[in-house]
Amino acid sequence: MIDIHALMERAPADRAQYRWQRTIGDFYQRALAGSVFYALGCLVTAWFGGYFSRYPALVAAVLLLFALLTYLRRTHRPPQDLNDRLATKAWWTRHWWMVHGGSIVWCGFFAAVGVIEAGPSLVFSIAALCTIAYTSAACEVYSFDRKQALLVVVLIQLPAMALFLVEVPPLRALVIVLAVYFVYQLAHIRRRGREYDAQVDVEYALITSRAEVQRLSQQDALTGLANRREYETTFGSHWHAAARQRTALALIVMDLDHFKRVNDTHGHSAGDACLRHVAVLMQERFRRGGDLVARIGGEEFAVVLPDTSAEEAVAMAQALRDDLVNHPLPWESHAIDMTASIGVDAIRWDIDTSPQDSYRRIDDACYAAKGNGRNQVVQAGPSP
Ligand code: GH3
Ligand code: MG
Ligand code: MG
Repeated sequence: MIDIHALMERAPADRAQYRWQRTIGDFYQRALAGSVFYALGCLVTAWFGGYFSRYPALVAAVLLLFALLTYLRRTHRPPQDLNDRLATKAWWTRHWWMVHGGSIVWCGFFAAVGVIEAGPSLVFSIAALCTIAYTSAACEVYSFDRKQALLVVVLIQLPAMALFLVEVPPLRALVIVLAVYFVYQLAHIRRRGREYDAQVDVEYALITSRAEVQRLSQQDALTGLANRREYETTFGSHWHAAARQRTALALIVMDLDHFKRVNDTHGHSAGDACLRHVAVLMQERFRRGGDLVARIGGEEFAVVLPDTSAEEAVAMAQALRDDLVNHPLPWESHAIDMTASIGVDAIRWDIDTSPQDSYRRIDDACYAAKGNGRNQVVQAGPSP
C-alpha cells in the first residue's frame, strides 16, 4: 500500500507529482470504509421500518450493491508504478465511478424511504440523519479533489431532495434544511481542500529541504566536488563490494605542489580559483559513470575508479598530471602554473585489509612523489 513515509523517502520530482501520488494513496484509503457505512445506514433504517419483511427485495438489492462496491473498492488497488501517468489516471477515473456508484445507490434508497414513509417519520429521520452524516464525511475525506467531493455530496442527496420537493410535500421543510446545509458544505469542501493543499506544501518543503541538506552534507562548498565524508562513504562501499567479488577498484590521491606559494604570491582568492580550476579539470578527465572525484583536504583530492586496473589507473593519473601542467589558470594578466604529486594503485586484495589500508598505501605513494621532486605519478607498492 502507499505509505506516506515511503513516498516522502522517494521524493517525487516536483510538487505536483508528489501531490498526485499522495492523493492516490489517500483516495484509496479513504474510500475503503464508505460502502460499509452506507450498508449500516440501510440496515438500521430497514430494521426500524420493518422493511426486511415489507420490502425484502429493496433491502436485499441495496445491501448487495453495497457489498459489491465494498469488494470493488478494496480490490481496485492503485497501480504499482505511481509514476505511470496513464495508468494512475485510468485508475483514478475508475475509482471515482465506484465512489459515485455508492452515492447513487444511497440516494436511491433515501428517495425510496421518503416515498414509502411519505412524511417526517422516525424511520425517515434515521435515513435523513444518515444522509447528513455521509455528505459531511464526503466533504471531509474527498476534499483533495473539490469538484469530485462536490459531486459526491450532490449525488448522495440532490436527486432525492428534488423528488421530495415535487412528490412528497410533507418533506419540503426538510429539503429546505438540507439545502441550507448544502451551502455550508460547499464552503466546508473549499476550506478542507485548502488545508489539504497546505499540508502537501509543508510535506513537500520538508522533502526538498531534506534533499538539499543531504546534498550539502556530501558536497565540498568551494569546488562542488564530493567532500571527504562522501569520499569515505563511497570508497568504503565500493571497496567492500569489490572485495566480495574480487573485482578491480583503483584509487588516486593527489596533492597540489607548493600550493602555499600560490596563496602567498597571488592571494587567497587566486588560491581558491586554482582549486576550482583543478576541480573542473578533474571532472572533465573522469567522466565515466561511477567514478567519484572528491576534495578530501585543503589542496588534496582523490578519485575512486571502480572496475579499473592498476595500469589503467596509472595512465589516467599521468593524464591528470599532464592536464594540470598544460592548463595553467589564467589569472589577471598572467597564468598560474600548477603541478601535483600523485599516488595511485589498484586495490591489492592480497595485502590491503581495509579501505583505510588501501588509502594509506596510496597516500604514501603521493608523499613518495613529493619526495622524488613533485610533479609526478608514483604507483603504490606494498606498505613497508
Ligand atoms: P607541498 O608541495 O609540500 O604539498 O606544499 P604545499 O604548500 O602545497 O603544502 P602545505 O601543506 O604546506 O600547504 C597547503 C596549503 O594549501 C596551505 C593553505 O594555504 C592552502 N590551502 C588549503 N586549503 C585552501 C583553500 O581552501 N583555499 C586556499 N586558497 N588555499 C588553501
Ligand atoms: Mg597537502
Ligand atoms: Mg600540497
